[in-house]
Amino acid sequence: MDRPNNSESAIVVGAGIIGLSIALRLRMEGYQVTVIDKQMPMHGVSFGNAGYLSEANIFPPATPDLVRQLLKLMLDKEGPLVVRLSYACRLVPWAIRAMATLKPEPYKRVLSSMASLTSSAIAELDELTKEASAEHLVTRQGGLVVFKTEAALEAKCRALPVWNSFALAAERVSAAYLQELEPALSKDIIGGIYFPNAGRCSNPRGLGVHYAKRLIDSGALIRREEVRVVNLGASGEAEVVTTEGAYKADKVVVAAGYLSKDLLTPFGYKVPLAAERGYHLMLPSSQIELRRPVVFGEPFFAATPMDEGLRLAGTAEFAYADAKPNMARANMLLGLAKPYLPGINGLDAKPWMGVRPTFPDGMPAIGKVSGTQSVFYAFGHSHSGLTTSAITAKCVARLVRSAGLPIDVSAFSLDRFH
Ligand SMILES: Cc1cc2nc3c(=O)[nH]c(=O)nc-3n(C[C@H](O)[C@H](O)[C@H](O)COP(=O)(O)OP(=O)(O)OC[C@H]3O[C@@H](n4cnc5c(N)ncnc54)[C@H](O)[C@@H]3O)c2cc1C
Repeated sequence: MDRPNNSESAIVVGAGIIGLSIALRLRMEGYQVTVIDKQMPMHGVSFGNAGYLSEANIFPPATPDLVRQLLKLMLDKEGPLVVRLSYACRLVPWAIRAMATLKPEPYKRVLSSMASLTSSAIAELDELTKEASAEHLVTRQGGLVVFKTEAALEAKCRALPVWNSFALAAERVSAAYLQELEPALSKDIIGGIYFPNAGRCSNPRGLGVHYAKRLIDSGALIRREEVRVVNLGASGEAEVVTTEGAYKADKVVVAAGYLSKDLLTPFGYKVPLAAERGYHLMLPSSQIELRRPVVFGEPFFAATPMDEGLRLAGTAEFAYADAKPNMARANMLLGLAKPYLPGINGLDAKPWMGVRPTFPDGMPAIGKVSGTQSVFYAFGHSHSGLTTSAITAKCVARLVRSAGLPIDVSAFSLDRFH
């Protein structure tokens, strides 16, 4: 690593893919870096995502279709979206804010801000994967959404002009073309959408582990401690108080996923994050060969080929983050995948649940705590945290250095919720 001279210290709270990407970027820029996480690196939601690198996730969570179908979706136990009754009241203020993003101005703002984030995101991964010798974990052979029903395909195709208006490549493709791309798909599939610029990570946890190893090899520290509070000292320097002690640093970045809100609210922020839990089912002996991530359009979850087998992953369950996982939602993915991938084998399947941190407008929070020069944040990446990890890291590193930003991040400030 050819590192510029920099005697400043930086603490990153959180060793998920967002925190580790930021830490690696800061280390590459010469900062003395310490990462603090209460768990082993990559044991939050970053552990088990679908590994889909997609530019297409630019829409806010509440779409007009979703609002119309919400009741039906909520009552369907195998549906892509459920809300646990115990969480419903807690979700009301979030849902009201989510509906507000359907107004034309906020809607347009979300689309253009997210498109600016996702459009450079996949290319940005290169510098970090190269630095961590993890290039082999990322490939770019596109991604697919496939459909069995005309109605669902037509509905999704309404997004095509929106993606294309932001120069995000997406095209409608025939059933025959899909068979050519992915022969394992069912002959019942009637068509789909192809995203030629999409990519895949064949081991999402492994990617972060490579980053962590590179950090340690280059002199950074990774501490396993729970952070209680982030403070400002008398001269504006930051202090991180953990269960084990207190650490001072020139700069602190809070990248603690869903729990970041606990560390940011003392600074006076409203942090309307919802716990949007998702599940995966890892199939080590699926007997299915796919070359790229394939999203099944009707139940809306992905099948991604990974180093350890085929991963079925996705769906949304709004529930308390620490409520007991309902692994039936992971196990149901096998049955829902069968009509798309006949012959899929569920032998030794392993279920998993993780908590996506989701804001009501679907955008992450990336910025500097107002009134400070030393505390920054990056969290709330919802469905796109793996995809947007490297561009987020570059933006945060530039904010930390007060240098020119690769994209305008003002729309991602937490100030938007005031
Ligand atoms: C089923 C599923 C599929 C997904 N598929 C994709 C996909 O295909 N593509 C994509 O781009 N994204 C996907 N995502 C989303 C992606 O996984 C997340 O956006 C991303 O992992 C968020 O990373 P993070 O670092 O912010 O959070 P985390 O990985 O949760 O990391 C936060 C870390 O902070 C630590 N922490 C929290 N509080 C404290 C504290 N007080 N003290 C110390 N440490 C603390 C936690 O222990 C944790 O390790 C998916 C998510 C799910 C659930």
